[in-house]
Amino acid sequence: MTTCLECDAPLTFPPDLIDGEIIPCADCGAELEVLSLSPLQVGLAPAVQEDWGE
Ligand SMILES: [Zn+2]
Repeated sequence: MTTCLECDAPLTFPPDLIDGEIIPCADCGAELEVLSLSPLQVGLAPAVQEDWGE
């Protein structure tokens, strides 16, 4: 089973999962990018940086 890299919760994937898809963790909200489908591998998607300006 693939689990969230942040909180270790089990991840559920849609049946039509595609390479590069971003799967949000239902538990902690982390965004996980599908790196590979076979074998299934996910990595943390780069967080969108807040631009606070100056
Ligand atoms: Zn999580």
